[in-house]
Amino acid sequence: MDKHLTVVAVDGPAGSGKSSVSREVAVALGLKYIDSGAIYRAITWFLIRRHGAITKGQDFSGDLNGVVITQEFNNDGSCNTFVDNTDVSVDIRTETIAKNIGKVSDDPGVREFVNGLLREWARNSSIIMDGRDIGTVVFPDADLKVYLDASVDVRAERRYNEYRESGKNVDLNSIKNQIIQRDVEDTSRPFGALKTAEDAVVIDTSSMSKEDVIQALINLIAPV
Ligand code: C5P
Repeated sequence: MDKHLTVVAVDGPAGSGKSSVSREVAVALGLKYIDSGAIYRAITWFLIRRHGAITKGQDFSGDLNGVVITQEFNNDGSCNTFVDNTDVSVDIRTETIAKNIGKVSDDPGVREFVNGLLREWARNSSIIMDGRDIGTVVFPDADLKVYLDASVDVRAERRYNEYRESGKNVDLNSIKNQIIQRDVEDTSRPFGALKTAEDAVVIDTSSMSKEDVIQALINLIAPV
């Protein structure tokens, strides 16, 4: 008989802590972590390289034919994303990618391509996957759905600190504006928009430590 594989879906807006929390929960519980945002980022990286610049509404159909995107989750909680065997994990975390990604993730063909990959990667392991539409579109039957939220100011500060820690000199106000812009894009796209699944557990992490959020998720997953 098939062993039941667990699917945990973690959705929420940019900077809500989904990714850092999910990867640590994965390590603690022996799940595989899948970063769906990194795939949209990798495709944006690829399309900018191919076209030089990309525009809203541009037709990307055909661009992804034959492109091989893979992801590796490591025991230390790190996650690497590859485009045609090139490790793009660092190059996809830039402001240029953040500014352009909405044009790519609005494209229904791109979303279909990504959803196919995500479902395939989840086939053989118990997983925790973070994104925007994981509990609503990619895995509507997930065993557990969590929606992580936080105020815009808290999220902007978290992103600002992440950039600073990786040695980038960024302006807090411009990061905040980018987050507001990403929220508008993420909640208003016609397909795969960010919204709370009816059966999701909503956690506002604004005044929680990362450790508290990790523990809250572990407690929720334990009975699944
Ligand atoms: O999670 P992260 O901030 O890396 O996601 C980057 C972007 O990728 C989002 O703002 C959104 O445009 C897109 N995305 C998406 N659907 C997902 C995950 C990410 O459209 N499931």
